[in-house]
Amino acid sequence: MDSPPIPSSPDVFADLLRSLKLQRYERKAAVKSNRPDRQALSAEERDEILAKTAGRCHICGGAIEGKWEADHVFAHAGGGIHRADNYLPAHRLCNNYRWDYSAQEFQHILKLGVWLRTQIEKKTVVGRAAAECFLAREVRRVKRCAPEETRMEGGEGCDT
Ligand SMILES: [Zn+2]
Repeated sequence: MDSPPIPSSPDVFADLLRSLKLQRYERKAAVKSNRPDRQALSAEERDEILAKTAGRCHICGGAIEGKWEADHVFAHAGGGIHRADNYLPAHRLCNNYRWDYSAQEFQHILKLGVWLRTQIEKKTVVGRAAAECFLAREVRRVKRCAPEETRMEGGEGCDT
């Protein structure tokens, strides 16, 4: 996929992101009535899917140990079909954050994430402000979803 044009201002960028989100909602609504119900994968199909990446999450590349999710390559919400060749293995956390973003939307998210990560590491004004807000959000998220014992250990809670 070629790189799309760079938005000319922060407002144009915000409008583009909003537009991509609305397109995603419209796509989802358009296929919802014709979309087949989600179906369970057999143990054999899950084994086949996990073998495609030699037991690694297709999103982050990390080893999969324990529970994992079969991620639709072409999102179910967007009309992706239920066939083993439309699935790849993913960590629950990675799959939750991948969601059903379009390719263009997800590329923006990746670029923003990589850029912001650098800002945080360099302790720029933007990086410090973003890290402060992000960490506060993470604390709230873990409190919402973590079992009590995991929360005490400061672990990843329900995302692992
Ligand atoms: Zn992962």
